[in-house]
Amino acid sequence: MSQPKTAIIIGGGIAGPAVALSLTRVGVQCTVYELQDGPATIGGAINLTPNALRFLDYVGILEYALKLGCPTEVIEIFSVASGKKLGDLPFGSKERHGYSSLRIGRTSLQKILLDAVRDAGVEIHYSKKLVRVEEDEDSITAVFEDGTSAAGDVLLGCDGIHSAVRKSYVEPTRQPSYTGISSAYGIAPTSAITHPIHFSAAAMNSSRNGSLLTVYCDAEKTTIYVAAVMEVSEHQGEDGWRIKGKVAEETRGSLLRRFDTTKLPCLEEMTSATEDLFFYPVFTLSKGGLWHRGRALLIGDASHAMPPGGHSVGLAFEDAVLIARLVEHVKPNNIHDVFPRFVELRAPRVDQDYAEAEQRWEGVRTVSWWWQMLREYVYWIAIGFIARHVDKSYGYDIFKLEL
Ligand SMILES: Cc1cc2nc3c(=O)[nH]c(=O)nc-3n(C[C@H](O)[C@H](O)[C@H](O)COP(=O)(O)OP(=O)(O)OC[C@H]3O[C@@H](n4cnc5c(N)ncnc54)[C@H](O)[C@@H]3O)c2cc1C
Repeated sequence: MSQPKTAIIIGGGIAGPAVALSLTRVGVQCTVYELQDGPATIGGAINLTPNALRFLDYVGILEYALKLGCPTEVIEIFSVASGKKLGDLPFGSKERHGYSSLRIGRTSLQKILLDAVRDAGVEIHYSKKLVRVEEDEDSITAVFEDGTSAAGDVLLGCDGIHSAVRKSYVEPTRQPSYTGISSAYGIAPTSAITHPIHFSAAAMNSSRNGSLLTVYCDAEKTTIYVAAVMEVSEHQGEDGWRIKGKVAEETRGSLLRRFDTTKLPCLEEMTSATEDLFFYPVFTLSKGGLWHRGRALLIGDASHAMPPGGHSVGLAFEDAVLIARLVEHVKPNNIHDVFPRFVELRAPRVDQDYAEAEQRWEGVRTVSWWWQMLREYVYWIAIGFIARHVDKSYGYDIFKLEL
């Protein structure tokens, strides 16, 4: 394989546009193919860690993100039962990591990325569902459901946890599994809250029935993202969906019962004021697995979807930077070494974050009353452990990794 000149990118979510931006910068002509008929119009608010902001800065769009999101340096942890604060979890500091974290609407982030991709001259084709991948000595071809196809020197599978590139080509046996945990979320207007708000930017309200995340998600703090993360044994689908009418009211009622809000009354108002509710069953991929085959490489959730609470968007952005650095750095005749080298360099970093995200994830499972009491008593120890990992992880700089 000679130095790639063209790349087919499958998926126009978050990793896809990021890879298109970084590969374009090193002279690879990219084209993005997305299953949906346009940019996403629904989605909650995601936390971008310092690693993610470092990437946005690199591709020149950080200033737009900062205008739309709410900077977060700590998540305050509260007990739902007592209303008391259990501690502060550091979440990225400008001083220590160069950037804070930023909570931003998923659709806002995607729009900023897609605008930048268009400005970079990259074509995005919508309503293109990849069904098959074919490869020969000279090129790789994506075959779409509508009967069309596209060929390039390399193909990047940025098509998320249920990746068709992985399932149809790279590793069909590696299937996502349901974690037993789902998220119900919505966005509430701050103006609807009459009781005092107990956090300054973000709070994780811990109960024995799961956690309720409440966090401002715009620069002016006019909206609050409310997300319950809880054990739900059955799931009814793979993708998230909007809950409407009677079902939405029942879900709201069940959230209020799960999270007794008598000690923190603003939580009830926030839950009741969410304009629309969405439900999202959380799936993960097992650790490890194959990340590439021939001219195809998986990026982002397609290769390493881990329990939320880590910093998966930051990891997807790091993937994007590393693949572009390797393509630029490698000698023209050694390009076949790029994908294996990518995996070799990325796996330790991803595995470590996966293990940490997995541990944190256990904290949202339903526990007995006395176990929750004990947990609240020793929370400060857990916060100390997490803070140490967070500090190391957010300080990681993919631009400085030795190739
Ligand atoms: C409840 C929840 C909360 C989260 N919160 C955070 C957070 O706060 N911070 C954080 O960093 N991460 C968070 N994550 C993780 C984060 O959302 C993912 O890591 C991130 O979206 C991965 O980006 P991606 O581009 O790899 O995949 P996706 O965002 O899933 O994008 C994949 C794209 O590929 C398209 N596609 C799929 N199949 C095909 C096909 N066959 N052909 C063509 N296109 C296709 C899809 O339509 C989609 O646009 C959260 C995840 C969940 C589930």
